[in-house]
Amino acid sequence: KKRPTILVLGAGYGGLSTVVNLQKSLGVDDAEIILINKNDYHYESTWLHEAAAGTLKPEQVRYDISRVIKKDKVTFVKAEVQAIDVKAKLVTTSVGQQSYDYLVIGLGFEGETFGIPGLDKYALSIANVNAARQIREHIEYQFATWALEDVKADSRLTIIVGGAGFTGIEFLGELGDRIPELCEEFDVPADKVKVLCVEAAPMVLPGFDPELVEYAVRQLKSKGIEFSIGTPVVEATPEGVKLKKGDDEFEFIEAGTVVWAAGVRGNRLIEETGIENMRARVKVEKDLRAPGYDDVFIVGDCALMINEEINRPYPPTAQIAMQQGDMCANNLIALMKGQPTQTFVPDLKGSIASLGSDDAIGVAFGKKMTGKKASFMKKMVDNRALYLIGGAGLTFKKGKFDIL
Ligand code: FAD
Repeated sequence: KKRPTILVLGAGYGGLSTVVNLQKSLGVDDAEIILINKNDYHYESTWLHEAAAGTLKPEQVRYDISRVIKKDKVTFVKAEVQAIDVKAKLVTTSVGQQSYDYLVIGLGFEGETFGIPGLDKYALSIANVNAARQIREHIEYQFATWALEDVKADSRLTIIVGGAGFTGIEFLGELGDRIPELCEEFDVPADKVKVLCVEAAPMVLPGFDPELVEYAVRQLKSKGIEFSIGTPVVEATPEGVKLKKGDDEFEFIEAGTVVWAAGVRGNRLIEETGIENMRARVKVEKDLRAPGYDDVFIVGDCALMINEEINRPYPPTAQIAMQQGDMCANNLIALMKGQPTQTFVPDLKGSIASLGSDDAIGVAFGKKMTGKKASFMKKMVDNRALYLIGGAGLTFKKGKFDIL
């Protein structure tokens, strides 16, 4: 009897934890497992703001996929997925086509610019390792150029961060640490630098406890970061961004760097599959399968699940992506054995947003926390993600232990 082929697309938190769990439970003869990913490394998306600000080296946020897969059980293919045909059960990639019996889509998130003109072209986004590198180098270039110029354009030293959600706030926290270092490195007076967070919504960090939000804003302001809340970006140009400040009132802010961190969507490839989706996210069945396709599972940010308690979607997080990977592996094994699949229920342990290297806010195990304690917890969470996928060896190599 031919082994079934399980094809996993994407080695992010969702895809990689699916594979790691499958290889733990399945024997070599049970299934052919193929993992396809654009790069031969996995990156910690949740650390990308640090690589983008320059507080962590880009190499530190990634590791080789070969470190965590068992080669006798899993075939890794480095390729870009170009199209997914769920009717013909065929995936087209940059190195050829691959058929499957079961498909797992874990192709992750992309930035969402909501059709605001110019953002796609002129704003940078914290989307992957190279995008993070580009932000870091762009900011350094602006500082170096300012220092060299005879006639100084101070707007080179203005950094606009679009979005006061989780990613925007975490990135601002890192900038708060990094800017003083940059000023020293490039001989730039600190008062010339402006870091401004612009947000369309009337609040910072929606969904977070108001007391924690107040703490975060106070801490960031004490590092010189400014906020413009309730002021949507209506356009980006090579010179900066235009903000809407009132009914007929607009303000143009010149900036050498604009980073857009105000929204995510699922991977665009989802939209071409014919599977019903919203912003490239598929409202999956309770067992994580795509509606109408019994052999297709979707995990991570490409999946959408409603939290019935509040009738709103769960936010796209690494925490949920990894738990989905576990459940997806279990359900694949159940299907192959002809057993019923199980319902996925997220087990939310909390949420911690970092505010630089030794400060954070969050709730973990039902407790609110701030400062060094929260920062310590955050690093533990980061280390846990490494541990769950790659065990102790990987955790010691890539983990965050500056706290101990
Ligand atoms: P991803 O991690 O996005 O991985 C997708 C993978 O697919 C990547 O390896 C990519 O290279 C690959 N891929 C994409 N397209 C293709 C293609 N066409 N062909 C081949 N391969 C492809 N979540 C938390 O829980 N806690 C946090 O503290 C947190 N902080 C965050 C901070 C930042 C700065 C950001 C950006 C996100 C943060 N998140 C956090 C959210 C979290 O990172 C995402 O929810 C999570 O990464 C989603 O996992 P995923 O498996 O769906 O996809």
